[in-house]
Amino acid sequence: MIVAIDGPAASGKGTIARRLAAHYGLPHLDTGLLYRATAASLIQADKALTDVEAAVAAARSLGLMEFDENALRGARMGEAASMVAAMPEVRAALIRAQRDFAARPSGAVLDGRDIGTIICPHADVKIFVTASPAARAQRRALELMRRGDRIDYAAVLADIARRDTRDAERADAPMRAAEDSVTLDTTRLDIDQSFAKAVEIVESRARAKRPGA
Ligand code: C5P
Repeated sequence: MIVAIDGPAASGKGTIARRLAAHYGLPHLDTGLLYRATAASLIQADKALTDVEAAVAAARSLGLMEFDENALRGARMGEAASMVAAMPEVRAALIRAQRDFAARPSGAVLDGRDIGTIICPHADVKIFVTASPAARAQRRALELMRRGDRIDYAAVLADIARRDTRDAERADAPMRAAEDSVTLDTTRLDIDQSFAKAVEIVESRARAKRPGA
C-alpha cells in the first residue's frame, strides 16, 4: 500500500505520516527533508540558494536516510528549502529517489507537497492535511520553542504565509490537493484525533479498493 500525504507547513502531516507508517508497518519518507538537506548543503558550501547548478549537484548527492533532522528542522531551513524547491531542475533531480522509495515491495508512506499529484499519482490512499494559518503558526511556534529557538509569533505566522504562497504558486509541482485525495482539516483536532481520522480514511479507501466492495 502506498500512502501519499500532502499539505502545508505545520498542518500535522509529518506526524500523521510517521504514525501511519508505524501503525501499518510501512517505511516512511519525509520528502521535505530532501529539500531542506539540499538547501543546507548549499548554505554550508557558501553558495547562493538560487545557484541552480550547485543545487542540482547537492540534490543528486543526497543519501536518503542520512539526515541530521535536528539541524534541518529550524525555521530558516524551511524558508531556504522552499526557495530551492521552486527550481524545476532540483525537483527533477529528486524525483527518482522518491519514486524508488515508494516502489518498495512493502509499500510506503511519503509526505510532502506533491506526493499525490506528481511523485505517486497512483497511490492507494491520498490525504491532504490542512489547518488554518493561525493554528499552524501556533504549532510551529511551540515546536520552535521546544527546540530552544527564539520565537516571535507574528514572524512565524508571516513565515508560514510566505512559504504557503511560494509553494502553492510555483510553476513546477505546486502544492495542491490531488483530485482523488481526501482533505483532513486538523484545525480543531489534537494529534491523536488527527491520527484516528487518518486511519479512518486509509481504512475506508482500502475497503473501497477491495474486490467486490
Ligand atoms: O515539509 P517541510 O516543511 O519540511 O518542507 C520544506 C519545504 O520543502 C516546503 O516549504 C516546500 O517548499 C518543499 N517541499 C516540496 N515538495 C515536497 C516536500 C517539501 O516542495 N514534496
